[in-house]
Amino acid sequence: ISFADLKLAPELLRALTESGYTTPTPIQAQAIPLVLENNDLMAGAQTGTGKTAAFALPMLQKLLPHASSSTSPARHPVRALILVPTRELAIQVEESVKAYAKHTKLRSLVVFGGVDIKTQTPHLKSGVEVLVATPGRLLDHLEQKSVQLNQVQMLVLDEADRMLDMGFMPDLKRILALLPRTRQSLMFSATFSDEIKKLSQDFLIYPTLIEV
Ligand code: AMP
Repeated sequence: ISFADLKLAPELLRALTESGYTTPTPIQAQAIPLVLENNDLMAGAQTGTGKTAAFALPMLQKLLPHASSSTSPARHPVRALILVPTRELAIQVEESVKAYAKHTKLRSLVVFGGVDIKTQTPHLKSGVEVLVATPGRLLDHLEQKSVQLNQVQMLVLDEADRMLDMGFMPDLKRILALLPRTRQSLMFSATFSDEIKKLSQDFLIYPTLIEV
């Protein structure tokens, strides 16, 4: 099986070739078609399995109709939100998104705590389709009205078990309450505790379960 067999768009296939990817990993082969077909997903996958591309590629493909070269912020509302537990993961995920999106007009941005919020605000206000964020800092931006989430059509919770371990549940609940009900949600977790199952019941709709 190749990435082309997964029906990915030419501009994404080109970026993959340039990244040196030849074959989809097992989680990519399973997840990409399911996400393209609008399923919610509960995926068990460790770091190193290629999970980032498993959600980022179909996400970008679904956002392609919204790619625009307009410089008006109103033309670039956040359409995909990726929540991650740590700054390191946030940076890494957004770098991957940027690499896969390099031949598209989709914009991405990463925001995380521990740095001056004022440096992030202008970028956020200029508009991005894909936002990668740690929960606490995203809430700060929401309180300051630097960003709106009412156009989000896809949500990813990456390393959900670590987010719960780090005490992000209350923050996640506040963020989830601000998202449109009609959306696609994907959850990735290395482990499946009762807490994780509860979280998935709270915000996924009839999710397809995949494990690698
Ligand atoms: P991840 O599990 O998403 O953190 O990815 C682990 C590493 O594998 C990253 O450095 C990716 O760039 C790389 N990678 C992901 N998918 C593929 C693929 N299909 N072929 C080659 N490398 C990949």
